Amino acid sequence: MHTTNKHSFGTNLIHAKTGIDGHFGAVNVPIYQVSTFNLEDETNGGRYDYSRSGNPTREALENTIAQLENGAAGFAFSSGMAAVSSVLCLFEAGDEIIVSNDIYGGTYRVLTRLFSKFGIKTTFVNMTNVDEVEEVISSQTKAIYIESPSNPFLQVTDIKSVAALAKRYDLLTIVDNTFMTPYLQQPINLGANIVIHSATKYISGHSDVIGGLVVVSDEKLADEVKFVQNAFGAILGPQDCFLFLRGIKTLKVRLDQQQQTALELAKWFEEQRDVEAVYYPGLKTHPDYELITEQANGYGAIISFKLNNDELAQHILKNVRLSSIGVSLGAVESILTHPATMSHASIPKEVREKKGITESLLRLSVGLEEYEDLKEDFNNALISFQEKAVTK
Ligand SMILES: *Cc1c(COP(=O)(O)O)cnc(C)c1O
Repeated sequence: MHTTNKHSFGTNLIHAKTGIDGHFGAVNVPIYQVSTFNLEDETNGGRYDYSRSGNPTREALENTIAQLENGAAGFAFSSGMAAVSSVLCLFEAGDEIIVSNDIYGGTYRVLTRLFSKFGIKTTFVNMTNVDEVEEVISSQTKAIYIESPSNPFLQVTDIKSVAALAKRYDLLTIVDNTFMTPYLQQPINLGANIVIHSATKYISGHSDVIGGLVVVSDEKLADEVKFVQNAFGAILGPQDCFLFLRGIKTLKVRLDQQQQTALELAKWFEEQRDVEAVYYPGLKTHPDYELITEQANGYGAIISFKLNNDELAQHILKNVRLSSIGVSLGAVESILTHPATMSHASIPKEVREKKGITESLLRLSVGLEEYEDLKEDFNNALISFQEKAVTK
C-alpha cells in the first residue's frame, strides 16, 4: 500500500516513494534499459527476471502513480488505449459494461469493434443522470465506465453517486481520469475501483511520449491487472517510463497556471460577440459548476466554445499562430481541435450534430503561453474575420 503520504500533493509529486534505490546517490531513477536479469540460480529468481514481467524504471512510475491516486497498485502500458484495453481484458464473454455516451473516441471504437467480437457488451448511457444508469443495469452488468468531465462539452458525472450505485449492485467502477489528473480528481477516494490515464496528455505534459497508466483500489484487482499486463504484454518501455517520471514532477505547477489561463480565456470568450457558447466547468454559468467544485480540486484546462458561424471556426483554425492545431491535449503548448472533423470525425454527421458537435465548435487545450498572448492571438483571428466580412 502506498497510502501513507503525510505531505501535500505538490510535495508528493517530487518525493513519491518509487521503491527503487538510486545507485551512487542519483536523485532520479535510472533508465534500466534491459530485457533480462541474471538469476541467482534457475529456481531462485531475483526481484526481476524479465522486463515484461517487471522493470525497475517501470516499477518506479507504477509506484508513483499508485501513491498519487491513493490506490493499492499502479501499472504502466504502452498507450492510453493499451491501458483501456488491458482493463477490458478483466471481463469475459457475456459481461456487460455501462459506459458514458460521450466517451473518448478510441475507447468507443475498441469497445464496439474489438471487444464486442469477444462477446463483451457495451450499453451507453447519459452518465450525468444516475437514475438513467440504474435503469440499464442488468444481471449481466459487471462494470460502470466513467469519463468526467466529458469531451467536448465538459459535462460532469457525479462519481461518488455512480460508484455508490455500482457498489450496491456489486459492479466495478472504472474512471478515465485523463482530463483531470490525480492532482484535480482522485476517483478512488470517491469510491472508484480502477482509474485509467492516457498519460500521453497531462502526466507527460510535453507532447513527447505515448503511454497509459492504471491504478487499482485493492490487492485482488492488483493481482488481476498484473496478470493481464504480463500475459497480454502491452507494457511501457523504460525510456518512456523515465519521461513520465520526469513530466509528472511539474504536474501541479503546469496545471495551476493552465487552469488560471483557461478561466481567464473562458471569461474572455464569453464576452465575444461571435462566440455563441462557452463550455468550461470553472465558469459559474456552467450547469455542473457546483458538482465539480464539490468532487474535484479544480476545473481542468480544456475549454470548448461554439462560434456563431461555421466559416469563422475554419478561419480561426487557419489564422491562430500560437495554438497548435491537433487532436491531443494536456501539453505545455496550447492545442486547438475541431471536434467535428478531428476528434469526433468517426461519429456519423447526423449523430454528431444531435450531440451538439457542430462545425462551429472548437476545443482548446490551454497550454503555458501567457494569457495576454493567447487572447491577442484569438482576438486577431476574430477581427480579421470581421474585416473580411466587411470587404466582401
Ligand atoms: C487520448 C485519450 C485516450 C487514449 O490515450 P492514448 O495515449 O492516445 O492511447 C483515452 N482517454 C482519453 C480521455 C484520452 O484523451
